[in-house]
Amino acid sequence: MLYQSTRGDLNRVSGAKAITCGLANDGGLFVPETFPTLTSDSILELTKKSYSKRTAYIIGLFMSDFTSKELEEYSDTAYSCNRDSGFTNREIAPLYKTDESTHFLELWHGPTCAFKDMALQIMPRLLTGSLKKLGEKREVCVLVATSGDTGKAALNGFCDVQGTKIMVFYPRDGVSEVQKLQMTTQHGDNVNVIAVEGNFDDAQTGVKAIFTDDKLDGKLDEMGCFLSSANSINWGRLVPQIAYYVSAYCDLINKNEIIPGEKINFCVPTGNFGNILAAYYAERMGLPINKLICASNRNDVLAHFINTGQYNKNRPFYTTISPSMDILVSSNLERLLFELSGKNGETVKSYMSALISEGQYQISDNVKAELSRIFQAGYCSEEDTKKTIKYTFKDRGYLIDTHTAVAYKVLQDYRERTSDDSVSVVVSTASPYKFCEAVLEALGIQSKESGANLIDELAKATRTEIPAPLRALKNEKERFTKTIKKTEMKSSVLDFVRGR
Ligand SMILES: *Cc1c(COP(=O)(O)O)cnc(C)c1O
Repeated sequence: MLYQSTRGDLNRVSGAKAITCGLANDGGLFVPETFPTLTSDSILELTKKSYSKRTAYIIGLFMSDFTSKELEEYSDTAYSCNRDSGFTNREIAPLYKTDESTHFLELWHGPTCAFKDMALQIMPRLLTGSLKKLGEKREVCVLVATSGDTGKAALNGFCDVQGTKIMVFYPRDGVSEVQKLQMTTQHGDNVNVIAVEGNFDDAQTGVKAIFTDDKLDGKLDEMGCFLSSANSINWGRLVPQIAYYVSAYCDLINKNEIIPGEKINFCVPTGNFGNILAAYYAERMGLPINKLICASNRNDVLAHFINTGQYNKNRPFYTTISPSMDILVSSNLERLLFELSGKNGETVKSYMSALISEGQYQISDNVKAELSRIFQAGYCSEEDTKKTIKYTFKDRGYLIDTHTAVAYKVLQDYRERTSDDSVSVVVSTASPYKFCEAVLEALGIQSKESGANLIDELAKATRTEIPAPLRALKNEKERFTKTIKKTEMKSSVLDFVRGR
């Protein structure tokens, strides 16, 4: 299996190379040349296997440069469940049923309590394995700019992984209290966390500038080190996510909720379009999917695109209570456009340059028709997000976070609009305990607490269980308290690599 760029570069690379490079030479994203097939027999075979074995199988279909023994070893370590590390639920990605045709796929039982763990627990192993295959001797330094969930998940995934260092920059005023504590208390000898004055954009622009600085590159090379990224445009983040869609389907068969071959819907709270793109790939492989429903929050640029065929980022940016979906340019959409246009790199290139020069593009009728074959979309206001959390808890006894609430509301709207009564899975992306302030407010509880105390307050108010990794936060010491200016980011990377 080889990989090509979404922008037409004729060069083909191996899976290991795609993961190591992150971006293609022409600025495009790496995509598999073809989709492997998932037959109905192989789905039935997977129903008998554990989450870890299902994942190793799916990744193996895409990463032909790894042996199944290697992938099973990575997967078994990444998706383990024992008393003091890894996942806190034996099923890894369990389903929770709230009514006859609605299931929540809980992707937040990993060590950092958000769905980013599903990829970032295994991605460091894929990356170091790839470096070994390519004969790379230098140490890799992973840089991350985060708006919250990715930073902690990457820190946890790379913590004490041999041959790697990881440095996370987060906006001083842009993450939730729990998210900040999670990062500043991170263990490990190869990690560093720094707050940057400004918002997420400042941190992100700073990291991008570091990646394109050739002089810095040379200095790092002399020190036996090179930079890499762990953000969601890396193929190594995407491929493990295909597995949980297949796994959820297997579990629904095992629970007699569907018969093999029955088509189901997935509704996904969407930001950078990585999660829902993995569902689309699963569908292209042959997983029986009826509709993929893309859920946006008040920043409804994606919902608008799917409904009209026009992508327009010239609009106000809103800070919402579902911050991981606050985004105006969804990078992974480029991979979908490539498939919808019949793998036409020139078409993708023209859309992307229009996006840069005019802030918008309009897809052709053919591409739009292909989009509408499977995608549906909607958005959810701040008010409706809170109402949905309250109603789901009061009526169903089920506590969900702000991102998951956006998806649940959008699914309900879709059902009303279409009377489609297929079995539907709401993809649940974070533990409600990561967003205590907003969840408490939604439940109508006025809180005067802050930091880790908010966690106890939410537990008391809802009599739900605190996820073990968050319960432990109260007793952790803050290790990383430094705040820097955007202009100091570059020198802080050099200091970190030098070991200062
Ligand atoms: C990252 C994130 C999302 C958005 O996922 P994408 O793959 O960027 O679309 C949704 N919810 C939570 C909790 C997240 O952390």
